[in-house]
Amino acid sequence: MRKLKNQQYDVIVIGGGPAGMMAAGRAAELGARVLLVEKNESLGNKLLMTGGGRCNVTQAEFDDKKLVAEIGKKGKFLFSSLSLFGPQEMMDFLAERKVPTKIEKGGKVFPVSDKAADVLRALKNYLQKNGVEILFGATVLGFEFSEDGNQKRITGVRLKNKIIHAKKFILASGGKSYPATGATGDGYSWARDCGHKIITPMPTLVPLKIQEKWVKEAQGVSLENVKISLVRGKLPVETRHCLVSTMGDAIFTHFGLSGPAVLNLSRKITEFTPENMPLSISIDLKPEIDRKALDIFLQKDFIKFANKDILNYLPELCPPKLAKIILRLADILPAKKINIVTKLERACIVSLLKDLRLTVIGHTGFEQAMMTRGGVDLKEVEPKTLRSKIVPNLYLVGEVLDLDGPTGGYNLQIAWSTGHAAGTACGKIKE
Ligand SMILES: Cc1cc2nc3c(=O)[nH]c(=O)nc-3n(C[C@H](O)[C@H](O)[C@H](O)COP(=O)(O)OP(=O)(O)OC[C@H]3O[C@@H](n4cnc5c(N)ncnc54)[C@H](O)[C@@H]3O)c2cc1C
Repeated sequence: MRKLKNQQYDVIVIGGGPAGMMAAGRAAELGARVLLVEKNESLGNKLLMTGGGRCNVTQAEFDDKKLVAEIGKKGKFLFSSLSLFGPQEMMDFLAERKVPTKIEKGGKVFPVSDKAADVLRALKNYLQKNGVEILFGATVLGFEFSEDGNQKRITGVRLKNKIIHAKKFILASGGKSYPATGATGDGYSWARDCGHKIITPMPTLVPLKIQEKWVKEAQGVSLENVKISLVRGKLPVETRHCLVSTMGDAIFTHFGLSGPAVLNLSRKITEFTPENMPLSISIDLKPEIDRKALDIFLQKDFIKFANKDILNYLPELCPPKLAKIILRLADILPAKKINIVTKLERACIVSLLKDLRLTVIGHTGFEQAMMTRGGVDLKEVEPKTLRSKIVPNLYLVGEVLDLDGPTGGYNLQIAWSTGHAAGTACGKIKE
């Protein structure tokens, strides 16, 4: 571990992820002496993985009300921090540091270079320019406290061989998702030591495990703009047992399903208790037309392509690998000529195209979850400054908070906005 330049800091930030880097840079920009403590030998390990290495840095929704609504019930906690540092401010922040951004389908914002490393570089420059001191390879083990009457204050952070003191502390240690990046949920127990309530952390935005063996065969097949519904048991998708539906892209994996639409649905699944199981996923491969219209469409095509093998026709309607599987599920021989496909068999194909059913048997857990649901209870944190309502010199930012959004840049925006707000509050050292 490197020797420290200073002995007394105004602010110590724990965790060099997006939230911690933003908080540290901002506090230092306002004049505070800041130490950023990171257990890894490098900053932003998870950030480099975001958006498949392209970093979906934020969501181009500039109406805070709409942005907050997309995040869900707890999103309103963000109103104050978003109003000061929202998606536009983040895009400007990057542009000022020579990382221009572009807006893609679904409002997803990426660096023009498609490189998460460029976003990290901009943040590193921000830290360096404002003189943030960084301690790498330093795992924080806990806080040191002083007690004045009933008021607890943090005096320092405990590392293996030393205690480092400061006036204020920003906890940016992340959640528990993708623990290999350093996010192992360490911060929850320290927040608990401070008296904070921790809402049980659960994996969310997580790939789903599917019972049907054929998914392995479909591995790698991507579906664009399909409708995916979550249904209680094997009940029809059109009933009140359909819990939620979403449109978007999905991909088959060797164990089940992933892709943005599925990850977003998983937000609902992790909310459900075991009594709601079993759950099934219904994929509508042709959401733009209803069953009746699809059947009429098929009837016409079956006349047009009467002499074709059915397997050679079906890829007109779905990916070839899936066509093979659909025929097997419908019990139709792939080499069967279209002119001898029966009405019942056609109805079966329509059914499978409109409601391809899969049984959910679980998810891949924190190892592959993009986010953690749960964390430090928002009721005990001031939304404007991210200051703890229990320990006055503690600030909590990013994924450690009980706040998560869907895919599309919302989660990084949570990190930027909360990090910036806490940095602003802590940077005002003469308060
Ligand atoms: C594969 C993947 C892809 C994603 N893609 C996107 C995307 O494109 N867009 C989007 O908006 N969101 C995305 N996310 C979510 C996004 O990465 C998180 O919202 C974000 O990283 C949270 O930032 P954070 O700073 O709070 O936590 P983290 O990024 O987890 O950073 C926490 C830091 O704290 C450090 N730390 C932890 N414990 C200690 C300790 N005891 N001592 C010292 N340091 C410690 C860790 O090493 C880590 O560096 C993705 C997540 C994953 C896993």
